Amino acid sequence: MSHSYPDTQLLINGQWQEALGGKKIAVHNPATGEVIGHVAHAEIADLDLALSAAQKGFQVWKNTSAHERQAVMRRAAQLLRERANEIATVLTMEQGKPLAEAKGEVLAGAGIIDWFADEAMRVYGRIVPARRSDVLQQVQKEPVGPVAAFTPWNFPVNQIVRKISAALATGCSFLCKAPEETPASPAALFKCFVDAGVPAGVVGLVYGNPAEISSYLIAHPVIRKVTFTGSTPIGKHLAALAGQHMKRCTMELGGHAPVIIAADADVDLAVQCAGAAKLRNAGQVCISPTRFLVHSSLKKAFTEGMVDYFNSIKVGNGLEAGSQMGPLANARRITAMEFLVENAQASGAKVLTGGTTLSEAGNFFAPTVIDEVPLSADVFNNEPFGPVVAMRSFEQLEEAIAEANRLPYGLAAYAFTSSLKNAHQLSREVETGMLWINQPAMASAEMPFGGIKDSGYGSEGGAEALDAYLIPKAVSIAMVSTSPRLE
Ligand code: NAD
Repeated sequence: MSHSYPDTQLLINGQWQEALGGKKIAVHNPATGEVIGHVAHAEIADLDLALSAAQKGFQVWKNTSAHERQAVMRRAAQLLRERANEIATVLTMEQGKPLAEAKGEVLAGAGIIDWFADEAMRVYGRIVPARRSDVLQQVQKEPVGPVAAFTPWNFPVNQIVRKISAALATGCSFLCKAPEETPASPAALFKCFVDAGVPAGVVGLVYGNPAEISSYLIAHPVIRKVTFTGSTPIGKHLAALAGQHMKRCTMELGGHAPVIIAADADVDLAVQCAGAAKLRNAGQVCISPTRFLVHSSLKKAFTEGMVDYFNSIKVGNGLEAGSQMGPLANARRITAMEFLVENAQASGAKVLTGGTTLSEAGNFFAPTVIDEVPLSADVFNNEPFGPVVAMRSFEQLEEAIAEANRLPYGLAAYAFTSSLKNAHQLSREVETGMLWINQPAMASAEMPFGGIKDSGYGSEGGAEALDAYLIPKAVSIAMVSTSPRLE
């Protein structure tokens, strides 16, 4: 059955339109390598229109009641649910992940929008006791202003959802540069907000040259906040630009998540949770488990379990029934996987399964398990962002914790242990923004989502996610007597 894939336009001031210069970028299907469509390529003149719309949109939206914002956002979430099948198909065609994962992403997005919509109703300020009885001191929480967002291709819908939801809930307008490689599913998400009744200019969507757009938007006086998800090097570059222009920012960057399998771990549970988490989105996930540290007494059982699990996975076009893992999203990832496997082998590591591409056409790479990886190997130092398990063994939990903390990353970490003592020690000593023990990653709207060290700063979940879009204004009001003055 053939599926149609839409071309993508810019969304400026509530209108879908081609770029003024008429330029377009081709979009490829990573499962076939074929060009499936095009996306409009904005230039500075388009950005100027989008910025002035965002400025106007902010004035409208910040003066829209929280009740109304909640209602519009909930309508958008409902539209996203109703359109989940068609959006998921487009997402799979442009990004590669299996259809079930794509639909899961879209439905999870609807849940996140709902949660933030309801939080809009709970953006409380506070009254602070004053030092004079005739003074009222209040802290008003106000939206920071128009937001510029830069989002990546690995979760084309949900990387935007976390940002747009927090921005709209707090009364900000939102101008997004979404990924050129996966443009149609983000556009479908924005369409839900437009169709739900978000006023013109409150949300805007552009594509083009990432470096040109980010340097123009971040420096522009209309933009008051910057939010980026992507790699650490680009994050550092954009954070520096934001700093130069005194813009607040949230940086959601790369990770290199350790998985500590302690001597008292349930091995089957560890294989099941970490294995499935590893192959989700073919490992192209910032919180993907990547550095497997296994107690020597469980090494054999864990390794056999993981290799069996990986060998059982059906890799194929995400649109085909039964595909459990799709292609990598772009050819850069294949080059990166080939390099890291070669480098690990040259460093003395053993490839137990996988390690190769799977077909001529499309970016298919086999689920790969590499054992006895020296600490010097690239895969134990740089984020792999692919379907690769790299393993080492340890004797003492302290050794594993030291390895977990060795890298400059600190996004996600996982551990398996049946002891409360170990769990407590891990929770205090592992340097990470998020830690899951005895379970796969369960990122939810209500819990903080973000990293430390080179993995960035700020959070995209929980109350902290809203705070990032709010400014506290301190207002102090002295009462003035209304009785007539005696001369
Ligand atoms: P990249 O570093 O070139 O780009 C990463 C993302 O940043 C892309 O979406 C890209 O469009 C955007 N980008 C690049 N330069 C930019 C700029 N000057 N201004 C604004 N946006 C810019 O690499 P890539 O090949 O697309 O991805 C590779 C690496 O990126 C991965 O290995 C992974 O570490 C990281 N990544 C992380 C996430 C995440 O969820 N944190 C998502 C995608 C990619």
